[in-house]
Order: sequence, then structure tokens, then C-alpha cells
Amino acid sequence: SYGPAPESAAEAQAWLDRHDRRFGHFIGGAFSKPGETFATKNPATGAALAEVTQGSRDDIARAVAAARKAQPKWAALPGHRRARVLYALARLVQKHARLFAVLETLDNGKPIRESRDIDIPLVARHFYYHAGLAQLMESERPGMGPLGVCGQIIPWNFPLLMLAWKVAPALAAGNTVVLKPAEYTPLTALLFAEISHEAGLPPGVLNIVTGDGATGAALVDAEVDKIAFTGSTEVGRRIREATAGRGVALTLELGGKSPYIVFDDADLDSAVEGLVDAIWFNGGQVCCAGSRLLVQEGVAGRFHEKLRARMDKLRLGDPLDKCIDMGAVVDPVQLRTITEMVAANTEGETYRAACAVPEGCFYPPTLISGLSPSARLMQEEIFGPVLVSTTFRTPAEAVELANNSRYGLAASVWTENVNLALDIAPKLAAGVVWVNGTNMFDAAAGFGGLRESGFGREGGWEGLMAYLRPAGKARALKPTMP
Ligand code: NAD
Repeated sequence: SYGPAPESAAEAQAWLDRHDRRFGHFIGGAFSKPGETFATKNPATGAALAEVTQGSRDDIARAVAAARKAQPKWAALPGHRRARVLYALARLVQKHARLFAVLETLDNGKPIRESRDIDIPLVARHFYYHAGLAQLMESERPGMGPLGVCGQIIPWNFPLLMLAWKVAPALAAGNTVVLKPAEYTPLTALLFAEISHEAGLPPGVLNIVTGDGATGAALVDAEVDKIAFTGSTEVGRRIREATAGRGVALTLELGGKSPYIVFDDADLDSAVEGLVDAIWFNGGQVCCAGSRLLVQEGVAGRFHEKLRARMDKLRLGDPLDKCIDMGAVVDPVQLRTITEMVAANTEGETYRAACAVPEGCFYPPTLISGLSPSARLMQEEIFGPVLVSTTFRTPAEAVELANNSRYGLAASVWTENVNLALDIAPKLAAGVVWVNGTNMFDAAAGFGGLRESGFGREGGWEGLMAYLRPAGKARALKPTMP
């Protein structure tokens, strides 16, 4: 049996206790005194985990000033010296991987299997990869320099991973950072701040200010050189307006309604497994979730049957239990949104997985089939464990349906015919297209959207370029001893 060990959360609880379960911001290399606070809760139980400080405009100004002060010295270090710190961060994330994973699961409600095997390893991978890029900066990107101080605002669905996607390239390029984590999930960012000190990151290079949307808006208004935002399209639009004409560089990673296209000749069992990963990984709270199933008519009946049988095997429950497939929804507000969106739908046929649904902030895997392309649930992001589906006849119709969206983040194509896959993939309006796969990420591959899914890429050299600008003159390549 893989049931949870009763002491499994002990280390995380001890860490919270060490901080008296009250956190200030991390500014200039130290935690400030907690100010006006709000509770961050474990969504699986509703229990408060800790109090964190609601960041004010003054807090943001102090953090930006600390980042401004630290920036020239950090940027002046040779790339290999910044790389050393990024390697140390990667190693410390690995050293404390269990603590990070449990804390993430407690704060967010995602299964420990996911935080332990996916989120935290990808975080370490991201820092290792960008350490590598940092030491290549002078030789591979001569004449490019950092932007300066970067404001970064992240969502709650992959709290530490979204931090890594933003912080690693910014620091590798010689920028300094003020990051605001999401209000539901600030804890792993605070633990990361603590270990950054141990990794030798100079004070002021990374600052964390906790708070809600108002704190985020204050960061957008502050004297920063770049805003990098991941979150909803609605807030992204507001940020674009607020930064327009101020010479602030901008990257927006926004929402999605990604198509998952299954052709008649697909390996149906693999496609079903892929779909479980596409829509029920992290309870569907994934920007690039394959939330719109498009299945070719010839196999639609059989595919839906297999899918329903597989859904009935999914286990919903305590996120710390290694046996479960889906944990809690991040917050009751999000649960209400999902419930209301599904209740308002009057079309198609709704199927709920047979699993028991625990009391509290849980929602079962759900499939709504036979929707018309214009139905609200076919067009709008639900950001929960709800899959919608419709059928198509020809490849051309599949492309038309897939592209009938205001979003363009990701797409999956399932077929055993490589020519068909190669023909379809470039016709899809999506930042990434996976063939016979889904949700595959790597630090070396740029990720980002088209249309209302945003612009800019994170990961790879393209992601790093979003934190650089022409520096006027190339810094001379001086060999330095490590
Ligand atoms: P959200 O936009 O409500 O919040 C995201 C962050 O922005 C939070 O830290 C929040 O406090 C802050 N914020 C809220 N209002 C703000 C304002 N006016 N100014 C500045 N900051 C503000 O989104 P969410 O509900 O936390 O996250 C879910 C959304 O994020 C979904 O739409 C999802 O698709 C998207 N997402 C996109 C990607 C991607 O890479 N494209 C990745 C993950 C999530």
C-alpha cells in the first residue's frame, strides 16, 4: 500500500512553526516584520497554514529600491559567477525537494505525486539549465545586457515552477527581481527566498512581496524595467494597458482552451491515457490543459466509452496520499466558479466519474459531450477538471474546430499516420503542438501562446532573450579564473 505516512507533513509543519506561522516580505536579503496579514489555507482541509503579509505600495517601493541597488553589481559579475549561484539554487531545491513538495501540496491541494515527481524536479531542471545559459552569455550573446529590475507576477497552479520559469532566466541574464506570488499559494516562494540566501544570492537580487491583486497592480505601476505576468487573460489585458507607453518590457502568459484531437486511426488506449494527463493533471488547473476534446466520428462512440471507464478508475482525495490521482481545487472561490459554469450549461450530456467526492473543496472528473462549437463551455476556460467534447468528420474540419477559439496556447494531435500529423500540426493556431503526447515541458523549449493566450516565450534561448536588450557596446571577453 502507498497510503500516506502520518508524519509525512511533519517537516513542512516544523518549517512553518519555525516562522511562527507568520511571514513578512523578503526584501534586501531578509524577512521584514509581518504587517497586515491574511491567511493562506490548505484547500483539502480548510485549515489555515500561515499568515502572510498583504503587500502595500510602500512595500513594493522598498522591494524595487532594494532590487535597483543590487542590480549593477549582479549584472557586472561574469556569467560563470552568476551560474555558480544558479547551480547552488538548483542543488538546494533538490536537497529540500521533499519539504518543497509537501509544502506545495499543503498550500495548493495538488497530489503529492505531482509536486514530488513533476513540479519540483522541473524547478531544479530550470535552474540547472539557466545556470548553463548564464555562463554562455558573453560568448553567445555578446552586446546584450540585462533589462534592469523585473517585476514578476505568478498564478497559483504551479507556484514554485512558475517562480522558476521567471526567476531563473531573469537572474541568469543579470537582472534583479521583485516577485509577487499568488495569494492562495505564497509559501514555497517564501521557502525559496530563505534558501536563496544559503545559495549565496546577494541581498536584493531576489525580493518576494506577498499580497493579492492590489499588490500585483502596485508592482505593475512601480519603477520597473519589465513586467512578466502569468495568469488570466483579463488581468493580462489590464497590465498591458497599464504598461503601455512607459517603456516597460512585457511578457504575458495567459489562459487557454487547448484542443485535443483524436483521429480515427489513433491508438485509442494511449489517447485515453494522454487525455487523463491532459485534463485531470493538477485537476485541470493547467493553462495548457487539453480541455477541448475533438474526436473523429468513426471512433467517437468507442473512444467516449473507453474514456468513461477510465474516468471511473480515477481516485479523488487527500492530496498527501500517494495513491490518489486528483487532489483539492485550490480555493472555494475557484470551486464555485467551476460549479456555476457547469450548472449554467444546458447542452450535451454530462458524465461524472464514479469516484467518491470528499467533503470540502473537491470536484469530480467530469465530461460534457456533444456540445456545439459555439457553446460557452467550448469557448471559455473552466480551469477545473471538466472536459468538453465534440466530433468532426475530416481533418480540415478538425483544424477549423481547433482554431475556433480566442486562445492559442497548446494542442495535441493523436494519429498513427505521421503524414497526417505533420500536415495538421502547422495549421493549428497554438504556441506548442504535441503529437501523440501532451503536457510535455522542458527548460530548453520556449513555451508561450498566440492570440489571447499572450505573447513572449519562457524557456530556452528565446525565453532568455526576453530578459535582455542590446547593451550599447559588447563587454570585452575577459578570461577569469573560476
Ligand atoms: P489571475 O490573473 O487572477 O492572477 C494571477 C496573478 O495576478 C496573481 O498573483 C494575482 O494576485 C495577480 N493579480 C490579480 N489582479 C491583478 C492586477 N490587477 N494587477 C496585477 N496583478 C494582479 O489568475 P489566476 O486565477 O491566479 O490563474 C489562473 C489563470 O492563469 C488561468 O487563466 C490560466 O490559464 C493562467 N495561466 C497561464 C499560464 C501560461 O503559461 N500561459 C500558466 C499558468 C496559468
